[in-house]
Amino acid sequence: MTLNLIKRLLLAVLTLLPLSLWAEPLMVFVGVPPQKTFVEKVGGNHVQVRVMVGLGQNPHSYEPSPRQIADLSQAQLYVLSGADFEAAWVPKIQAMYPKLPILDPNVGISRLIMVAHEHEHEQHSTSENPHKKELDPHVWTDPRLVIRISKAIQKRLALLDPAHAQEYADRYATFKAELSSLDEELRQRLAPVKGHSFLVFHPAWGYFAQAYGLHQVAIEYEGKSPGPKGLAALIDQARALDIHTIFVQPQFSRQAAAKVAQTIQGQVVALNPLAMDYAANLRRVADALVGEAPQ
Ligand code: ZN
Repeated sequence: MTLNLIKRLLLAVLTLLPLSLWAEPLMVFVGVPPQKTFVEKVGGNHVQVRVMVGLGQNPHSYEPSPRQIADLSQAQLYVLSGADFEAAWVPKIQAMYPKLPILDPNVGISRLIMVAHEHEHEQHSTSENPHKKELDPHVWTDPRLVIRISKAIQKRLALLDPAHAQEYADRYATFKAELSSLDEELRQRLAPVKGHSFLVFHPAWGYFAQAYGLHQVAIEYEGKSPGPKGLAALIDQARALDIHTIFVQPQFSRQAAAKVAQTIQGQVVALNPLAMDYAANLRRVADALVGEAPQ
């Protein structure tokens, strides 16, 4: 028997063993950084999480690196984020690795339509379909929805690794309690500003706004900055609503935001919907909204 044949036989035997006998943690790929936190909260040290869209990268236009595509051959689970890049890449990944389980943790969560404003009509060129409705992928900005996302993750991890199912269930229960108290804390903190509007560059906070009775007004829509007419309308709106702070995120240009801020004599504050430190980040957002500035 050649060494190669022995290797192949050994591999065949190993692949027949149930996953639970592996000492190695499950390699889980996720779309965006906050999901890494969710999978680790539930999976503990039985998971090793890789993130597709790194911090500071734009999940609406991301392209996985050749290295990431190669690493996916080692993955035991891919957790979708709903980010735009997945629409183009997941079919390719599926074709390459037909056995890779893919979990959509957002199933059953009713998705918001990305907020539209009058100004965006002037953006639509004839080549675009004006009836195209984009579903808002930023589901995780509502901690109660993260409870549902984490439940889906827990169920799938238990299925892939039944030996640790109880641990996943326990860890999920703990995380669920943390998220519930975070939600309660945010609700109380934001109660004084309920009904208020806030101005953001990229509309990533729709679910958060919905959860706490706030109104998100976006400068950018579908990745584009408004034209001069749109900007003027926004400035009028910001003045009417007495808004003096514009929230931006590091993945996007802050030029248009800075222009609006200058005109309304306001300030630009950076908030990141993709931050890995999930709970602390939402607290920062609440602080910024209550004080209109986190500093
Ligand atoms: Zn986004």
